[in-house]
Amino acid sequence: MMTPLEWKQYYNSREFKERYLYDGKDLGAICGDGGTVFKLWSPLSEKIRLNLYKDGESSAYEQIAMQKQEKGVWECHFPENLHGIYYDYQIDREGEGLFTADPYARACNCNGARSMVVDMKRTDPEGWEQDETPPLGPEQIIYELHVKDFSYDPASGVPEEYRGKYKAFTLEGTTLNLDGIHSTCLDYLADLGVTHVQLMPVYDYASVNEAGDSTQYNWGYDPLNYNVPEGSYSTDPFHGEVRIRELKELILALHKRGIRVNMDVVYNHTFHTDSWLSRTVPYYYYRLDGDGNYSNGSACGNDLASEREMCRKYILESVLYWTQEYHMDGFRFDLMGLLDVKLMNQIRQELDSRYGKGEKMIYGEPWSDGDSCMEKGYFPCYKENVKYLKEGIAVFCDNTRDSIKGHVFFEEEPGFVNGGKGLERNIFQSVKAWCGGKDGFAKAPSQIISYISAHDNLTLWDKLAATLGRKSDGPMDGKQIKDKQIENLYQVRNEEIVRAYKMAAAMNFICQGNLFFLAGEEYARTKQGDSNSFISSPELNQIDWNRAYEYGDILEYYRGLIRLRKQLPGFCDKSQKAGKRITKETIAEKGVIHFSVWNGEESLWKRLFVICNSQKQEKLVKLPEGEWELLLDGESSMHWAEEHPEKLLRKVSAAPVSVVILGQR
Ligand code: CA
Repeated sequence: MMTPLEWKQYYNSREFKERYLYDGKDLGAICGDGGTVFKLWSPLSEKIRLNLYKDGESSAYEQIAMQKQEKGVWECHFPENLHGIYYDYQIDREGEGLFTADPYARACNCNGARSMVVDMKRTDPEGWEQDETPPLGPEQIIYELHVKDFSYDPASGVPEEYRGKYKAFTLEGTTLNLDGIHSTCLDYLADLGVTHVQLMPVYDYASVNEAGDSTQYNWGYDPLNYNVPEGSYSTDPFHGEVRIRELKELILALHKRGIRVNMDVVYNHTFHTDSWLSRTVPYYYYRLDGDGNYSNGSACGNDLASEREMCRKYILESVLYWTQEYHMDGFRFDLMGLLDVKLMNQIRQELDSRYGKGEKMIYGEPWSDGDSCMEKGYFPCYKENVKYLKEGIAVFCDNTRDSIKGHVFFEEEPGFVNGGKGLERNIFQSVKAWCGGKDGFAKAPSQIISYISAHDNLTLWDKLAATLGRKSDGPMDGKQIKDKQIENLYQVRNEEIVRAYKMAAAMNFICQGNLFFLAGEEYARTKQGDSNSFISSPELNQIDWNRAYEYGDILEYYRGLIRLRKQLPGFCDKSQKAGKRITKETIAEKGVIHFSVWNGEESLWKRLFVICNSQKQEKLVKLPEGEWELLLDGESSMHWAEEHPEKLLRKVSAAPVSVVILGQR
């Protein structure tokens, strides 16, 4: 038996690369009118048998010995179209036999251990051929959403059989508790004005039993079949084509309402090390440390070796497959810091050449959980290496996030809007998307995702409750009482938090990066202080449609921010020159800043003047010369749309804990 290190050594040898690197794009089971071809890359196997099944559960009706061809590819041909036939492989290697599903599977059975042959054309829903990606607008505003969260709440008005499913996205006219007035789900999203919905994992993941009941919950960061949709969101996980069709229906429905769809992808690790990738080519796809142990920068037990040729090919082809077959409009790479710069630039280039420059979004987390054993000569996509990434690849900006609302791990540590000190310079950097300056690390705002909440960590409401709640003047007899007070703040409306909330939202919207927010941020979503709800109940995680309208003023504030932002080229500009639009950055006093923005001749307002007052007192600020219109303040983000917006000369008063935006024609 070869040891893991011996395998690795062999994979890195010239001999292996010359004999076995395969560049065909036809791995997997491909069928059509001309027949069906199975191809599996498994160079060091001695014998491989293909097992065929009538369905996802019964025993094999046929077993065929596969033929080994060039480059370690095993093949089997059939004259007929085997659409709907299930299959797996039995591999003999080093005197042992094992079963595996196909790592290139496009469909699978319930829970994914058996692959399915699928004629992809037959999975297209009605209207799929006419599906059109909505045109790119002036700004990208991404809404991070979990499929189950969207419609699990009965108040969503979604019929029970579709709640928590892909199908819920296809319904129009749903309203809150069927009241016929307050829109929910698809109509609500379209009203909100976001341009991209980013779906949390919809590839097939392992942690939910697809045959189990609907009370199970997981975010899904545990990939099982990379190129198959998750089955628990489908109405029938037992028939492999259903989940495919229903995910396509979701995408079609969002496209029809003008919303693009991004997908959260987790190519940094697999659910376990005994994956289909491992079973077909042991250790090849994984990083090993010097002792032959699995590298664990993901904190999930393994790291994929993105720098290895066939692994790189696997990831790239997977991204292209989702784009081509499912019409995905962008990808959010989980723990992108575990992937290498060369791979990400290659993905950017391939997507640009196929679909046009910047048409497909690429962004990810520029960090990992720990160090990973990447081969020498490759750069991880960490923040310090953003300079090596193409301008069309963006990273989540923790600096902006933490500067606005406080540290993500230290719950009580505040940011600019909730009492944090000494953050003024950071806010200016956030506005300019961390381009230039001593601590700038991006080349252009296109490389930055500006955000203040995501699925990880506390929601924005819970974070503000944790910081502002602990500072309340009420009686404080020890930690228990303090915690009790905060608990109430999750449920009970608190005007101090609402003010800071709107200020934080407005501050995110005056940053030049790409905008992103967690679903529900627009209505003060709470998870009751749960900072890692990946396996918490669906009731805790769900979009609470009643709350969405209880905090209707915050919802309206977000709608206005989104509409206003799309009209402000001064902030939408993603070029290297964008930073030059921001001038006269002034710290008026601690916690009070203002700056000017060149919005451009093409805009209704050529100039903007922005004030951020985080103090608890009203502040009078001197205005630059000329007449100014009030576009937005702490009360309303829709002043700009009023028939006669307030006109101001010389000075303006900024309310406590608020942002004010003024425009000059
Ligand atoms: Ca699954």
